[in-house]
Amino acid sequence: MSSLEPSRRDTRLDSYIDQYADRTASMTVSAVRALFSVANRPEVVSLAGGMPNIADLPLKDLGASFDQLIQTKGIQAMQYGSGQGELFMREHIVDVMAEEAVHANADDVVITCGSQQALDLVTRIFVNPGDVVLCEAPSYVGALGTFNAYQADIHHVAMDEHGLIPSAIRDAVTALRAAGKHVKFLYTIPNFNNPTGITQPVERRKEILAVAQELSLLIVEDNPYGLLTIEGEPLPALRSMDPGVIYLGSFSKTFAPGFRIGWVLAPHAVRERLVIAQEAAVLSPPVFSQFAIANYLENFDWRAQIVNFREMYRARRDATLQGLADHMPPTATWTHPTGGFFVWLTLPEGLDSQALLARAVNERVAYVPGNAFYADGFGSRNMRLSYCFPTPERIYEGTRRLGKVIRDELEM
Ligand code: PMP
Repeated sequence: MSSLEPSRRDTRLDSYIDQYADRTASMTVSAVRALFSVANRPEVVSLAGGMPNIADLPLKDLGASFDQLIQTKGIQAMQYGSGQGELFMREHIVDVMAEEAVHANADDVVITCGSQQALDLVTRIFVNPGDVVLCEAPSYVGALGTFNAYQADIHHVAMDEHGLIPSAIRDAVTALRAAGKHVKFLYTIPNFNNPTGITQPVERRKEILAVAQELSLLIVEDNPYGLLTIEGEPLPALRSMDPGVIYLGSFSKTFAPGFRIGWVLAPHAVRERLVIAQEAAVLSPPVFSQFAIANYLENFDWRAQIVNFREMYRARRDATLQGLADHMPPTATWTHPTGGFFVWLTLPEGLDSQALLARAVNERVAYVPGNAFYADGFGSRNMRLSYCFPTPERIYEGTRRLGKVIRDELEM
């Protein structure tokens, strides 16, 4: 990750240098963005980006249906709308959340520009500079970026193969509070964590909720991948077991990210502040997108489409795991996700994923180095491999190339 620091020091590079707010000092250029230019070259198998694979959406039928939408509701769909989001959209969202056993009232939902903006709004209303946000170790790079932008003090909590370790949450909160720190919330991705692919089993979810209740610790549950299960049925969300949890959802992975529609479900008092914050941020979330998504949910078999997505991602996950089993040295290890987009690989001791990246790109394969997912520089022996986008054949070839890079490095 390259930071903005050099330009902050040099007025020849940036004449606005004395004008920027302090918070920009902690804003960094994401490693993912910096990678996109190389990783997008056609000869490179990119296991780096996390773009959903939406090539199989029924574009022709969608086009006809959107045409109809413009003719019948175009004027309303192209107007400003409600800061909280349109009621019809919030009612649909209530139905979508019921798939994961979350039972909610449409009045407690706030529509956002993707769940990325939900993260921003939640942080905006809760976090003062220096407040602690607890995150999984490792955690979604985009969330770390948001927490940094609000000058949060990010503390990572250890995970095992079942996700967050409840006793580690208790130890962290106890120590931080004893040191006079204000711990604002715990951010977690219980399903198919980005970047590890790890899922919290139901028992673990209950233990995490019990510790949070004991500590009066607010939980922010980020769940964009929950319906994309590859094995078994979706698990009940944390929010389904505790209405005090703030829940973030999105249509980016279950439909398409370009509409930029996500949401927050929050306890009533919190919801009111979120709406005020949302009005200050964007007046109203994209009205046309809300009409388009509602139109999709009403006129297409979206549940069947999710089943198609699951099968498509299962083939890609299988190709990844097969490729890793065939090509990695015995001292490398990796997670076995049961859904979502990501595998987390741990390199043999002594290897560094960031140092290896240039060689990997030379061998025409890309990944995201593990340290992008930590606020504190850890993760140098890890890499995130995304299997969502390339074909299974390309993914398998990518793991072959990556295996060669790692084996060559071990022999040097
Ligand atoms: N949370 C997680 C864990 C994600 O992986 C992503 C996207 N990669 C987001 C939130 C943001 O997604 P969106 O804004 O498209 O809903």
